[in-house]
Amino acid sequence: MKNYKNDFPIFNQNSKDKQLVYLDSAATSQKPRAVLDAMDEYYKNYNSNVRRGLYPIAEIATQKVEEVRNQVARFINARDASEIIFVRNSTEAINLVMNTWGDMSIDMAMDDVIVATIMEHHSNFVPWQFLAQYKETAFVVIDITGEGYIDVDGMYKKIKNAKILAITHVSNVLGTINPIKEIIKKIRIVNPNITILIDGAQAVPHMKVDVQDLDCDFYVFSGHKMIAATGIGVLYGKKKLLEEMPPFLFGGEMIREVTVEQTTFANAPFKFEAGTPDIAGIISLGAAIDYLEDIGMEIVKNHEKELLEHAFSQMEKINGLTLYGPKDIKDRSGVISFNIKGVHAHDIAQVLGDMNICIRAGHHCAMPLHKHLGIVASARISVYIYNTKEDIDLFISGLKKVKEIFKV
Ligand code: PMP
Repeated sequence: MKNYKNDFPIFNQNSKDKQLVYLDSAATSQKPRAVLDAMDEYYKNYNSNVRRGLYPIAEIATQKVEEVRNQVARFINARDASEIIFVRNSTEAINLVMNTWGDMSIDMAMDDVIVATIMEHHSNFVPWQFLAQYKETAFVVIDITGEGYIDVDGMYKKIKNAKILAITHVSNVLGTINPIKEIIKKIRIVNPNITILIDGAQAVPHMKVDVQDLDCDFYVFSGHKMIAATGIGVLYGKKKLLEEMPPFLFGGEMIREVTVEQTTFANAPFKFEAGTPDIAGIISLGAAIDYLEDIGMEIVKNHEKELLEHAFSQMEKINGLTLYGPKDIKDRSGVISFNIKGVHAHDIAQVLGDMNICIRAGHHCAMPLHKHLGIVASARISVYIYNTKEDIDLFISGLKKVKEIFKV
């Protein structure tokens, strides 16, 4: 297994006895030097605003931003770069759709429903619950099976009158990789008029995603979870839908013409990008995609699978430890949530934190899912390309220490 830690400065600042074991990449990822350098280069060499300056550095910045838009389109196989909208993060992308698509669908009939699943992150749950309340229509939630898979048969029954389905590609708690392509194919037969939004926050960083192959209407993801900077995210939308949708935020850069009487708007994607974009963030996203593509998404995926297997096989043997989500590794991404009987998840994370082992504890912004599982909190590890088997071994010894301290 190749060790990529040298590419990530954060791992090179610790002495051996204080080694940083970072197992919280589902929250945010670490950044490689190539990404940091790309942002540094922008600020040092061609810092300027985009789409307005007529001087050379502004032209370079504008060109870079549009190159990244093309690069993102290629990375997720969108038909056209105009289908890529730069936003702050997945949450903003979903809110953009909720507001604008939601407004456009104001004519919702009484029996039209809005559907999400119980495994959604709050970012892909709360906006839809709110929209349903606002439109005075039903908010329908799809269940999961005991093993942590989407209840697909139940879903097909529930989506007959659905206006929109919001579903995650990969669960940030259970690690389940949902069979999105097959789900969408079947759903479109049952309900040809449905709009489908996929939350790809935990998928795009870790596997090859092809939005045309999936045939989703919207797909969202965050740069910071895929080794780019915080503050940059992506909304992909099918061109026809984007053209029909009204703008989200209003102001500079999203207009065609403004008069005292009225304003006409630019076409997508600019219609949805009011104000100065996160130029450095966009440039970081381009560098992140270059880095991931140099390795190859198949290798990224296999690297994580190997780590997952290594962790899973050892965790399964720990007495009193409950693992959530599918048992079959092939259906999982590199996220493992668990509890140890007799110890609160926060105490697990605290003891490990004292050892410089970074894991997450809490409800991971998925309270309905935790309630469904009959728990209030869980501990979670999540891996990425820079993790090694040694990280996992240190984590496992940390868990043994937790058991010793709490005598369980
Ligand atoms: N969806 C999922 C599945 C996530 O894991 C997260 C982040 N934890 C989000 C959405 C929200 O991402 P962001 O905070 O970058 O908007």
